[in-house]
Amino acid sequence: MLEIRPNCENCGTDLKPSSVNAFICSFECTFCKTCALDILHNVCPNCGGGFERRPIRPSLNLKNGNYLGVHPASEKPVIKAVDTSAHETFASEIRKISPNMR
Ligand SMILES: [Zn+2]
Ligand SMILES: [Zn+2]
Repeated sequence: MLEIRPNCENCGTDLKPSSVNAFICSFECTFCKTCALDILHNVCPNCGGGFERRPIRPSLNLKNGNYLGVHPASEKPVIKAVDTSAHETFASEIRKISPNMR
């Protein structure tokens, strides 16, 4: 189950569980849309994988308690600002490869 982290790991901006600007890699490294796509070029600085938009967990109990009320989002901030010049080097070749081919 996703932790649904509360902020962008790079710039710290808030990413509420309902945010459509939250992007995650398969390990749930979490970034805002601007950081994920414009700054990181769809290359996770931690694993090299691509990002997808984070799904939104319902805030309403629509079925069997599978909602935020029973499975709340994480409130523990994860901040690990990216060294952008190191990332440019790391991502320069990786970004040319579609995530499903990495
Ligand atoms: Zn960000
Ligand atoms: Zn990652």
